[in-house]
Amino acid sequence: MLLIRTLTTMLAVLLGAAIGAAIGGALQVPTAGAALGAALSAAALAWWDTARGETLLHWLRGPKIGAVPRATGWWGEMAYRIERGLRLREAGIEAEKQRLRDFLDAIEASPNGVLMIDKGDQIEWSNGVAAEHFGLDRERDHRQRITNLVRTPAFVGYLQRGQFEEALVFPGPNGRGTLMVLVRAYGDGMKLILSQDITERERAEAMRRDFVANVSHEIRTPLTVLAGFVETMSRLPLSEVERQRVLTVMTQQTDRMQGLVGDLLTLAQLEGSPRPPVDRWLAVADLMQRVQVDALALSAGRHALGVAGGGDAEIAGSDTELLSAVGNLVNNAVRYTPDGGRIDVAWRWRDDGSAEIAVTDTGPGIAREHLPRLTERFYRVDGSRSRETGGTGLGLSIVKHVAQRHGGAIDITSEVGKGSTFKLVLPALRVRRRTGVVAEPVHPA
Ligand code: ADP
Repeated sequence: MLLIRTLTTMLAVLLGAAIGAAIGGALQVPTAGAALGAALSAAALAWWDTARGETLLHWLRGPKIGAVPRATGWWGEMAYRIERGLRLREAGIEAEKQRLRDFLDAIEASPNGVLMIDKGDQIEWSNGVAAEHFGLDRERDHRQRITNLVRTPAFVGYLQRGQFEEALVFPGPNGRGTLMVLVRAYGDGMKLILSQDITERERAEAMRRDFVANVSHEIRTPLTVLAGFVETMSRLPLSEVERQRVLTVMTQQTDRMQGLVGDLLTLAQLEGSPRPPVDRWLAVADLMQRVQVDALALSAGRHALGVAGGGDAEIAGSDTELLSAVGNLVNNAVRYTPDGGRIDVAWRWRDDGSAEIAVTDTGPGIAREHLPRLTERFYRVDGSRSRETGGTGLGLSIVKHVAQRHGGAIDITSEVGKGSTFKLVLPALRVRRRTGVVAEPVHPA
């Protein structure tokens, strides 16, 4: 390149000198003409070169690298090389930016809150979850001091102490739920705050504790009675009448414990097993028949009993679960309805294709405020009545589980002094009409 440029320059200067000499010869000053011609052509060359360099410089000063000036030779190659270098650098920057975007998107998608703060505890960046956890507005609160925005003393103290080996659990600043926060230091005094909403976990843990406490309490009472009687029997000589009385009470207490353990096992089984199949069809008539037999035995003639409908229907589900659910509802109706009352068990189709088994009684009814809590484990409106009649407090939670496992629900309506209706509602997917059944048999009371 250098050689070509040198030769071109020399050629141009020689050419200029020759032309100058020819013109100078005609004017009788050939030497001066040659010198002037050489100087002019050198100046023209220098100007042309400067102009091309200026075009390149103008382009480089511009904001964009597009539209590179087209040139040949030395300046052309220089423009091409500069442009290539710039494009490579731009592609590298774009790739880095994309990597950063992907990285931030990944953190954004995290189910946990991520918040970065600098050494002055000012917010550098946060994902949406963290903003929600701490009640922040990501744009407005950027570069604000976190402790000015989240003023919960436990959180402020935790950040100030600077000992982050253990996570901090505190009530969410929005007044909602419980947050668990973990802090990790990085870089030059920067901190990464990771937050997790543990409200559900806490609630489940509280429920588990309550459940264990309730079960222990329910078992301890009959056990205490039994232990007392065992001691009495082993220490004191009892008459036959007294012995019989003691044995009757002991049998009642063991029955109570057996009932409780039975219900606990049923619940555990319901929670631990897969949902009943949707393609095993059971005749509702058989279910109603068995419910009627059990109800008659339980009531022992103390109530008027009606069982109706379902002769044309089938349910897809588990017969033991459904029998246990309806059995529990009927059992409750019998136990809570005073003698002489009426209990009806009815199968009904609903307009949307679903169906319900309704158990209606003329018992004491339940005040409205208790209704939402009735299906909670061990929730009783009248504890002593429940226990006296062999209740465990788990019946309705079993019914609710069975209903949910069949895609249905339990629906309770009640009026104090008039009676209650408990409906086991089954979705259209799990009920169908039996083919070939003409009339609906009604089971007489
Ligand atoms: P329990 O074993 O105590 O009957 P359940 O879970 O079956 O437990 O019922 C919860 C509570 O709902 C009962 O303790 C009772 O107070 C109330 N209850 C249930 N069924 C009836 C009913 N048919 N009539 C009045 N109260 C009822």
